[in-house]
Amino acid sequence: MSELPLPPATRMLGSSGIAVSPIAWGMWRLTENGRTASEAARLVHAALDAGITFLDTADIYGFDGSGGFGDAEALLGEVLAAEPALRGRMVLATKGGIMPPLPYDQSADYLRSAIDASLARLKVDSVDLWQIHRPDILAHPQEVARVLDEAVASGKIRALGVSNFTQAQIAALNHFLGHKLVATQPEISPLRIDCFENGELDQAMMLGLTPLAWSPLGGGRLAAPESERDKAVAAALDVVAEAQGVSRTVAAYSWLMAHPAGIIPIIGSQNPARIAEGAEALKVRWTRTDWYAVLVAARGERLP
Ligand code: NAP
Repeated sequence: MSELPLPPATRMLGSSGIAVSPIAWGMWRLTENGRTASEAARLVHAALDAGITFLDTADIYGFDGSGGFGDAEALLGEVLAAEPALRGRMVLATKGGIMPPLPYDQSADYLRSAIDASLARLKVDSVDLWQIHRPDILAHPQEVARVLDEAVASGKIRALGVSNFTQAQIAALNHFLGHKLVATQPEISPLRIDCFENGELDQAMMLGLTPLAWSPLGGGRLAAPESERDKAVAAALDVVAEAQGVSRTVAAYSWLMAHPAGIIPIIGSQNPARIAEGAEALKVRWTRTDWYAVLVAARGERLP
């Protein structure tokens, strides 16, 4: 049975020259439950101490429908202000371009102000990766590219990415960018498998983009599957998890990491032990047989 290669200890983020951990930690849920800065610091430490040094946030994280815009960035900013040395231990990614209630704004003036506002909230001079969160259909990619190239040239951003972009939107923006995209962030999980066959990951490999997988557990559904399909996917993951002595969630991360595009799952847990556990995904081995068994369970039908 042919084994797929284990993930490397570090990956390069596209062509940026920035080395990142092959698994990331995300802060979408950081401000939940009124988390304090010291509680947030504990989570940051849990990730970094486990070797998970690639951290993902966004300016809209913390927004609850009426307020809280920027709160997750601001909370991380408090953590960094209290312990400045943490900044050097992490590769910091954020996103912008969604401004409630519009909802999308990538006009030049808005983008410039959004980038500056993120840096101010995070209390940093630059971020390593800045991603457009969702595409603004009304923004011309040439104008977006001009603003982003300026932000890279001025040192505010080291590398550029997108999230939730179609393949054509990626190609159009990349065409106009001087500093080419290095990352794309679609939803990918054993429950969300579109990108394996719709060309998104093929485009990422062709353009040298590192795919970051958001909601790698289907927003937690894999931990407590309810539908027949979700249960079948969980069962296929459990075969490998039990054989290798890891949890189902770790098996799910490693299933994504086994793909040749070098997918980086973004752990969504805000529980220190669960964050740290994610690093175990680096040691899980997949055979083609086991890998395809998960895919087939998710497809709900045999491969042709
Ligand atoms: P996820 O890993 O699919 O789901 C995480 C949720 O599952 C948490 O609420 C977690 O709760 C729960 N969970 C239950 N049992 C768990 C277990 N055994 N292990 C781990 N988690 C368990 O990820 P996500 O939070 O939906 O998204 C992850 C990251 O993706 C976000 O932080 C963000 O960076 C990114 N994201 C990006 C976009 C985008 O549009 N670009 C959209 C959504 C998310 P506990 O905290 O209690 O563990």
